[in-house]
Amino acid sequence: MPPCPVAPDALQGIPRQQTNPARWQGENWNEFVSTLQADNIDVIEDRGTRGIYSTDAGGLAYGMPNGVIIARDAQQISTLLRNAQRYHIPVTVRGGGLTTEGESVAFGGVLLDMTGMSRVLHIDKDTLTVRTEAGIFWHSLAEELRRHNFDYLSAPLNLTSSVGGTLGVGGIDVNSAKLGCSADQALCLQVVTPTGDIIECSDEQNAELFQRVILGYGQFGIITEATLKIRPFTPMRMHYFYYRSLRSAINDLILLDQNGVPDYSGILTMMDKAVTLLIAFDSAEREKTFFEQWHKQLHGYGELGFGIRLASYYALHPWRLNELFFLLRRKHTLFPDLQPAQHMRNGEIIDRTVVFSRAVWKHWGHKNMVIPDLATSVDKFIDAVEKGNAVCKHYFPRYTLYCVGIKLRAEHKAHYELSSIPHDAKDFSYGCEFEPILEENNYSRDYLQSFKNAIYDIGVDMDTSYYRFGGMMKAYIRRALGDEVVEKHLALKRIADPAMILNRNVIF
Ligand SMILES: Cc1cc2nc3c(=O)[nH]c(=O)nc-3n(C[C@H](O)[C@H](O)[C@H](O)COP(=O)(O)OP(=O)(O)OC[C@H]3O[C@@H](n4cnc5c(N)ncnc54)[C@H](O)[C@@H]3O)c2cc1C
Repeated sequence: MPPCPVAPDALQGIPRQQTNPARWQGENWNEFVSTLQADNIDVIEDRGTRGIYSTDAGGLAYGMPNGVIIARDAQQISTLLRNAQRYHIPVTVRGGGLTTEGESVAFGGVLLDMTGMSRVLHIDKDTLTVRTEAGIFWHSLAEELRRHNFDYLSAPLNLTSSVGGTLGVGGIDVNSAKLGCSADQALCLQVVTPTGDIIECSDEQNAELFQRVILGYGQFGIITEATLKIRPFTPMRMHYFYYRSLRSAINDLILLDQNGVPDYSGILTMMDKAVTLLIAFDSAEREKTFFEQWHKQLHGYGELGFGIRLASYYALHPWRLNELFFLLRRKHTLFPDLQPAQHMRNGEIIDRTVVFSRAVWKHWGHKNMVIPDLATSVDKFIDAVEKGNAVCKHYFPRYTLYCVGIKLRAEHKAHYELSSIPHDAKDFSYGCEFEPILEENNYSRDYLQSFKNAIYDIGVDMDTSYYRFGGMMKAYIRRALGDEVVEKHLALKRIADPAMILNRNVIF
């Protein structure tokens, strides 16, 4: 039996400090490249091009592929994978490269850049669906849909995440508590399996493949095309409520989500001193209903009320005035970026992805994006966030928590088996991302890794899941998801991918 690719921590009880996996040694590379070239597939081997892909958004994992292939069509990818099986060459797939644990970094072998497949193929106005190539970035898809007054349902708040990369990992938007995660918007996919078959799959056709590929971290096939649900475009009417207590803000968020009140919702904090509940609406009617029926039930304050409370707190704790200056500076610079004039019309945000993506990179961006998370059932959420908050406080002077709900699909739950959706979540799951504000500070890789471990240890203790459990964090998979689920998927992977070449450092 080959060694287990998801062995639990080798050093039990000692915080794991793993960074890069071992580099592939290059056996059969030249024969493999010659065979592909004979099939007119271009393998780019110059150092400059390979270097472009040497890390991901996390900036903690580094690796170089032996060659880069730009995806052109399913047939080309099929030929690539057939030969990769034959010559035992690892293939790592990359969309936008927004992973943080090195999942889209190649530690040798081929790096397949999916952005070469970025065309929208067909918009169906009657069935409200779009067929698109999977390397497209969500915002490019949004641009194309907007010309017809449509929008996608939900997608990461980021300008460079691709459809294919997202369907494999989840995709959470501020409307996911209402519309579910991006992966649940996919109706059918064209997939190239690790052995090179090109297969159309959905919950009705080749359902088992569909279930494995959706939320499957690229283990069971490369998504080349996707049919997604779409909806009429609506601008966003945003409101903020401010809290001193994380617990009350989370209780209010859950109350609103479970009653389907807002169209968009989430929590963004400045440490645990200023907790902001964001809620937004697709229409004036829904906004009106909120103010008439729900507003009074919330425990948050308006800006003035909160400002007075914050001022009283710091008047009694003058030795913490530095913190107050930080909060004021942050509010002064961040909030205008959440409503920039060029993206507003009549007080409404007209492109949330651009607005949020720019704000995220401007105010949290760093060469190292360290954003571990916990994903829990509703019942465990407050506890998990409070424990994670305590870990943040211990490691960093400044940090943010970003919490958001995810409505779960009612049927075909097999999609969620080995995924970020916790096994005990029923109708909703909640995610909290813990984001240190690193600013100009340089922390060692071990320090940042220890922080991530401390967050993930909370998950193991509480029996929850995570959004980013692949790559460098994969030693947690067995501890978090249990041997039974892992053994089942590992056995399926060994059948689907006999040479274990596809995205081998991500999960299996
Ligand atoms: C600053 C920042 C903000 C973020 N905000 C959000 C957010 O708001 N919501 C959210 O959900 N996520 C968020 N993320 C996470 C990120 O958006 C997701 O990881 C992203 O959706 C992945 O898309 P990608 O194209 O970058 O995928 P990649 O990082 O390129 O790939 C992701 C994984 O899928 C595999 N893969 C890529 N393309 C394919 C394909 N076509 N077929 C099969 N496998 C493939 C890769 O090998 C890799 O394992 C954020 C990340 C950062 C760094």
